[in-house]
Amino acid sequence: MKKRILIVGAGFSGAVMARELAEQGYLVEVIDKRGHVAGNCHTEIDDETGIMVHVHGPHIFHTDDQLVWDYINSFAEMMPYTCQVKATTGNKVYSLPINLLTINQFFNKSLSPIQAMNFIKSISEPKEHIRSFEDQALNFLGRELYEAFFHGYPLKQWGLDPSVLPASILKRLPIRFNYNDNYFNHKHQGIPREGYTKLVEKILSHERIKVNLNRNFVATDISDSDHIFYTGPLDEWFKHKGGRLGYRSLRFEASRHTGDFQGCAVMSYPDVEVPFTRITEHKHFTPWQSFNKTIVFHEYSHYCGHDDTPYYPIRLVEEKKILSNYVEMAEQEENVTFLGRLGTYRYLDMDVTIKEALNASRQFIDLDSKQQDVPVFFDRPL
Ligand SMILES: Cc1cc2nc3c(=O)[nH]c(=O)nc-3n(C[C@H](O)[C@H](O)[C@H](O)COP(=O)(O)OP(=O)(O)OC[C@H]3O[C@@H](n4cnc5c(N)ncnc54)[C@H](O)[C@@H]3O)c2cc1C
Repeated sequence: MKKRILIVGAGFSGAVMARELAEQGYLVEVIDKRGHVAGNCHTEIDDETGIMVHVHGPHIFHTDDQLVWDYINSFAEMMPYTCQVKATTGNKVYSLPINLLTINQFFNKSLSPIQAMNFIKSISEPKEHIRSFEDQALNFLGRELYEAFFHGYPLKQWGLDPSVLPASILKRLPIRFNYNDNYFNHKHQGIPREGYTKLVEKILSHERIKVNLNRNFVATDISDSDHIFYTGPLDEWFKHKGGRLGYRSLRFEASRHTGDFQGCAVMSYPDVEVPFTRITEHKHFTPWQSFNKTIVFHEYSHYCGHDDTPYYPIRLVEEKKILSNYVEMAEQEENVTFLGRLGTYRYLDMDVTIKEALNASRQFIDLDSKQQDVPVFFDRPL
């Protein structure tokens, strides 16, 4: 049995893996280069206002997976929360995702669902060959809604014109013909009462888990353990020998005010003239609390430089070429498994992250008990 396990990264991937292995008798060391656990889901209390802040951008837990929901509820009290996003475009405020209220307000009409469906059909611009995000949006929505809500946002978020982004990004019709403005369609939705960092600390609180923070992974760590689960960036493991996998990074500009700044948690700004993508007002994530002051983050997106935090994997044609070389290189490695959003270079929601870590831990334990080879990926990046 592989007894000593090193886990690089104390986000949800690393923490769930650590807990599952520790419960089965493995000795687990978890290291993270940051000074806190929970990775990009990190929350902390702002000293000045007392408000819980989502340090790396707003995180709402949502899932249809009962097993994952039960898992998360065994470590934290999940408070009911419904994500309702607003958008300011052309100096007016609308409800997102585009729904019957958005359509009626935008076009100054009072359409019923069926009338709205026919109306949108009449203004959509069907294309014979749908090649890009722009083609797809025009096909689904028509030009006016596309230009107001879908043209500027990808430009700012991805730094790319929608005419060169793949159509696959907009798989489904991004519009509802009713007044449902719940951003997510999932059965369960919530926010941990004490925040994500406390939740992950609880997952990691086990007698066979040792957590070392402010500790960067170095090559000599390899020889001290029987197996490594690596949740850091895949290209970093190979010292970027095959080039850098592209990410978008985010910058958050914090400001504090009195009262209520915008009346909701997330206000999106699709207009291209506005330099930020959205404003998050953190106190609205904890409606069970009340505060006189408030703290807001203006969010700016940019290409991830060498010293920036990687947020969203870009995964266009060029990046996929680089990725496929790294996958080949990874297949040659031994005693390491790459896991999570950075280890497999995919965008993963928290519930998917947890599900994948739970599945990977079960498969690892099974293979290890039979002394069989452990794969480098349980979930393949491509
Ligand atoms: C802006 C934004 C908003 C999001 N909102 C939501 C949401 O509302 N709902 C939702 O379900 N999901 C959301 N997500 C996704 C969520 O953040 C991920 O599912 C989650 O962070 C994945 O966990 P992870 O452990 O795989 O990665 P991470 O959380 O990134 O953890 C990886 C850890 O590895 C550490 N590390 C990296 N390299 C090294 C090294 N060399 N040595 C030591 N440590 C290292 C890092 O410091 C980090 O702590 C959002 C993501 C972003 C970017």
